[in-house]
Amino acid sequence: MENKKKWYGWAGTLLNIDLTKSEIKKEPLDPEMAVNFIGGDGLGSKLLYDRLTPGTDPLDPGNLFILSTGPLSGTLFPSSGRLSAVFKSPMTGLIGLSNAGGYFGPELKWAGYDAIIISGRAEKPVWIWIDNDNVEIRDAAEMWGKDTWQTIERIEETIDDNTISTVTIGPAGENLVAYGLALVNRSRGLGKGGSGAVMGSKNLKAIAVRGSKGVRIHDPDKFEELNWQIRENLKKAPNYTLWSKFGTMAFYPILDEVQGALPVCNFQEGTFPEGSKALSPDTFIKEIEALPNESCFGCPIQCGHYMRVKSGKYAGTHLEGIEYYAQFVFGPNLGVPDWGFVVKCHEVANRLGLQFSVGHLMSWAAELYQRGILTKEECDGLELTWGNEDVFLELMRKIAYRDGIGDVLACSYEEAANRIGKDSQKYQPIITKLDTSECPRARYDVALSHLISNRGGDHNKALPYFNWMTTPEYVNALLPGTPEKTGDMYSVDGKPELIDYSENVHAILDSLPTCLFASFTMTPDGGGTLEEYAEILSAGTGVRYTKNDLLQVGRRISVMERSFNVREGFDRSLYQMSEKFYETAFPDGAQKGVKADKKIIDKLVDDFLTRKGFDPKTGYPRMDVLKDLGLKNVADQLKKMNRLAGQHEEDNVSM
Ligand code: SF4
Repeated sequence: MENKKKWYGWAGTLLNIDLTKSEIKKEPLDPEMAVNFIGGDGLGSKLLYDRLTPGTDPLDPGNLFILSTGPLSGTLFPSSGRLSAVFKSPMTGLIGLSNAGGYFGPELKWAGYDAIIISGRAEKPVWIWIDNDNVEIRDAAEMWGKDTWQTIERIEETIDDNTISTVTIGPAGENLVAYGLALVNRSRGLGKGGSGAVMGSKNLKAIAVRGSKGVRIHDPDKFEELNWQIRENLKKAPNYTLWSKFGTMAFYPILDEVQGALPVCNFQEGTFPEGSKALSPDTFIKEIEALPNESCFGCPIQCGHYMRVKSGKYAGTHLEGIEYYAQFVFGPNLGVPDWGFVVKCHEVANRLGLQFSVGHLMSWAAELYQRGILTKEECDGLELTWGNEDVFLELMRKIAYRDGIGDVLACSYEEAANRIGKDSQKYQPIITKLDTSECPRARYDVALSHLISNRGGDHNKALPYFNWMTTPEYVNALLPGTPEKTGDMYSVDGKPELIDYSENVHAILDSLPTCLFASFTMTPDGGGTLEEYAEILSAGTGVRYTKNDLLQVGRRISVMERSFNVREGFDRSLYQMSEKFYETAFPDGAQKGVKADKKIIDKLVDDFLTRKGFDPKTGYPRMDVLKDLGLKNVADQLKKMNRLAGQHEEDNVSM
């Protein structure tokens, strides 16, 4: 295939790899698709929507595993080393959207590709080697069964180059654990939704890439000027030093001591006095030998802490990239006040190829054990009590290898609850099919953003961080016309408008791509603004974007992803939280006694869906909204499937 168009920003080429046929084909990127969906999550979602046969089982060879970059990947635009993975999720059945930093995205772009679309299933284990124009499917028999780090070593030895970038799976992905992880290099996870299980279902052990072609920029002088302007502003931002020093670990004391909403023992408690000091960011700095920070490509923040446990039971354990998620999910959530244990669990999860959902599933199982719903016998003799470090480490191994109780806990939440039975489902820590890292009982921004997240309950797709890092005036200025209390996370006012805006913005950030930490949403008065992003994207690509164009792209992407979920069979009943958030409350702390209010929350979801252009009764999109966003193919397809708003007697929304 000869690509005759001269591209700026985008590489202009998609790489198709059919593992069933062992076939590799390159195709030109459609310019209209590039302009309308940009890259990363947007481009990946568009490709998945167009090319996946509706109703495909997530572990069927017909599922697609798409890795996509954006037009700013591989440039010096701050924090643009992100990579998106898009697929149908074995954990939820929804669209799978994973995003990781590191170097793979830039290398893929420099090799000349905007995205790789992997389909089919190899007859035997394979890995893919991409060396600029040369792409090969290679035998992975000797790597199968190895952990991620061993696999990376083997690939580096084979290629005789330890500067290449990799995406690998461990035993969990091979064994189709529903939340198997695809690991980028040695420490960056394509988290949430089971990226590793989809690779495993394709007999695909790893992908390695080396690129050296660079990125062509339309207006290099303007691009460089804007790039330095955004970088310098970022460094002056009030939160810059905080992110740089602690990353998201900075959240821990706020959630524990101020908000009283730390997930402790499967959201049974909201504070963890035993861990206040032991698991604080300051203790981390003292007890862990923090080596110089690691960074994703082109990032001035460099939040990745490379660490080695200095002393105690886990002395010598080391890895890069600890952050709040690992800190709470393996710490207070399992009842363990020890940084060494947190680092150990993180290392084991990375090597076995398990997403952090493993911490939630183990915590859920421990609550079931506490309540007598799971017995010692059903847990293969393990005493699944809070704080029992050795048992949790053994349970992780059993899950990755699907051994005994591990086989049950390796499933999606729905399947695991069906297998355990009794009342087990109501104790799951989930919102819209996926585990949450934030408590939704008191905070309406958390509840709504997690409920409507297209990949299932999650804090990275619509949660407006800026409304608790700034002032109500800041939020009101961003969203003129919204109620005064829109920026108050405990108020119900203005939340549908706020979360709608935030979802559109997150879709833009994940498509340029840039890291959430570098944007104004996390670093107010410093991170790049939407106006600056539009300008630098225009200078990079030669396509004129304004702030409003970007917001329209964000809306288009989020509506298409939601429509994907509708096409795959989901309706209004998708948006549900576990009973535990409605029926139980924290016994102490700032949120003592507060339960989520179902009536209020259901109304928020209805208002959000209406605002987004979906019918609040059925959850189906409106034809006029799809057409306005240029999604006519989506409208036509859903109409044939009888899944448009207004196609049902009970709807009151006109088409
Ligand atoms: S802020 Fe941290 S996660 Fe984000 S790009 Fe920079 S180093 Fe990577």
